Amino acid sequence: MSIDPFSFADDLGPEKVIHIYDPATGLKAVLVVDNVAAGPAIGGIRIAPDVTVEECYRLARAMTLKNAMAGLAHGGGKSVIIGDPRAPAEEKARLVRSFARAIAQIEDYIPGPDMGTNETSMAQVKDLIGRAVGLPREVGGIPLDEIGATGFGISVALEAAQDHGNYQLSGARVVVQGFGSVGMHAARFLAEKGATLVGVSDSRGARTCPGGFTLDRLIDFKRTGGSVSEFDEGEAVDGADLVGVDCEVWIPAARPDVLRADNVKTMRAKVIAQGANIPATPEAEALLAEMSILVLPDFVANAGGVICAAVEYHQGSEAQALTTIEDKIGTNIVAVLERAVADKLLPRHAALAIARDRIATAMTFRRTF
Ligand code: NAD
Repeated sequence: MSIDPFSFADDLGPEKVIHIYDPATGLKAVLVVDNVAAGPAIGGIRIAPDVTVEECYRLARAMTLKNAMAGLAHGGGKSVIIGDPRAPAEEKARLVRSFARAIAQIEDYIPGPDMGTNETSMAQVKDLIGRAVGLPREVGGIPLDEIGATGFGISVALEAAQDHGNYQLSGARVVVQGFGSVGMHAARFLAEKGATLVGVSDSRGARTCPGGFTLDRLIDFKRTGGSVSEFDEGEAVDGADLVGVDCEVWIPAARPDVLRADNVKTMRAKVIAQGANIPATPEAEALLAEMSILVLPDFVANAGGVICAAVEYHQGSEAQALTTIEDKIGTNIVAVLERAVADKLLPRHAALAIARDRIATAMTFRRTF
């Protein structure tokens, strides 16, 4: 079977698609550098057993759009290593180092953490090739998951969208699907703005508590290895029923495509802030618009992590990272929602138009040969 290597090519990229194989270490990996008009691409290294070139390309494009939307001096890229994300640390380190050696010369790609890699992996990459983001504090990093950079950005997005969505965070009831790094910190920052967590899930189950969970206790319980479904407040429910829970704010923060045409009609929230990447299908987003439920698109609302990574790369501080997230996401959400109203577009389509315009302009500054 022959595969057209340019089947993904369009007006933005991808600029490079590199297949890497090292028989000595068993490394099999793909790197996609999608677009570098705004600067060297930032994007994570994902370790997964079943990733495809197409998935890597789609993730790289998502980073191009997210970085452009956030107004960063960086393009988008992504890499995937075919492997077991739960492999012993030494085995993972061997693959990560082998990958880092292989991409040493691809200087317009700056690796970051993603599913299956973490700040230790990034320290191993930086040690070999002198560049990586999402590093441990000890080597100049800002630990973005520990400080909750993405969850903070979600809370900023929700605050900025209050008037457009006709809701108030003070007193709002919040549902979080996926109580991990993004979901937990989003709930924590929203609680500071007066909101209450009333529904929550993780990979082992779901729970609701109409009067509101005691958040600090729930976070401690989860951090010590418990599943939210076993917590001692509220009642256990089927994870699928979380969509219909009575609330103002609904935050998907786990896997793709959790909101679909077949389940979204039971949604009762006023606003959905997309913490996860591509958590709703296009059909679901169209239905939500018909139901007058506001959707804050993933690549605008969940950019807190990559903004933090960019601040780290340019040697900024943790305080600067948080201020930059607040400034950029707050401004961008308003710009997207105003454009959506003016041009009668879904928020995602308005955001795509803005991001694509920025990339197209950045591309005009590049030399052609
Ligand atoms: P995480 O692994 O820390 O948390 C994910 C949580 O989702 C876990 O609690 C897990 O138990 C739960 N989960 C998994 N499958 C589930 C299911 N079927 N139903 C309910 N819960 C389920 O990951 P994270 O870093 O919080 O990332 C969550 C999502 O946000 C991912 O899609 C990721 O790509 C995206 N994202 C993360 C960041 C970041 O800074 N970490 C930035 C942008 C986007």
